[in-house]
Amino acid sequence: MKCDQKHKFMRISFIFLLVLLFACGSSADHSIEEETVIEDFLICRTCGNDVSVANLAFDKYSPLALSATNHTFTETRSVLVQEVRNPLGIRFHIFLVKQASCAKIHPWTHKSTWFPGYAWKVCVCPKCHTLLGWMFEPVETATAEQSFPSNAGFYALIFQNIITEGYVNSLLMIEKVLRDNH
Ligand SMILES: [Zn+2]
Repeated sequence: MKCDQKHKFMRISFIFLLVLLFACGSSADHSIEEETVIEDFLICRTCGNDVSVANLAFDKYSPLALSATNHTFTETRSVLVQEVRNPLGIRFHIFLVKQASCAKIHPWTHKSTWFPGYAWKVCVCPKCHTLLGWMFEPVETATAEQSFPSNAGFYALIFQNIITEGYVNSLLMIEKVLRDNH
């Protein structure tokens, strides 16, 4: 029970931080009192750690993408999923969010970027260290002091490594229904 409460508290802190960061980055037209409804949580498929929220997804085309398709994420939101290839020939399906939770990691790389003008570094889950995707920051501000992307940067998450909480809950419901009817 205590553990549950702690998790709840951590989640609320996390959402607050995300919303705050997002609010600071957007224009000030909207009242701060405006209610933000979290559409869905994006969580690490390996360990269930909160990574981001569906509200923070946005679309930006990579000129190097091999393909791009719209994927329905939640009832109200679809995201652009792009297929990209790294210099080793490994392909990934990625989608973009303005903020995400990643472990602090080493310097920015300028070579082989999927988004020209942006430097990158990997994004690994702070809890289980699974590769979740990459962080991108404009080349001019990708300095050693800038550990994480600024408001001008973003995160590309690997579609297969992220799952929505709504989907997890729907699976749990199916399992419960199957158990109850057994
Ligand atoms: Zn994880």
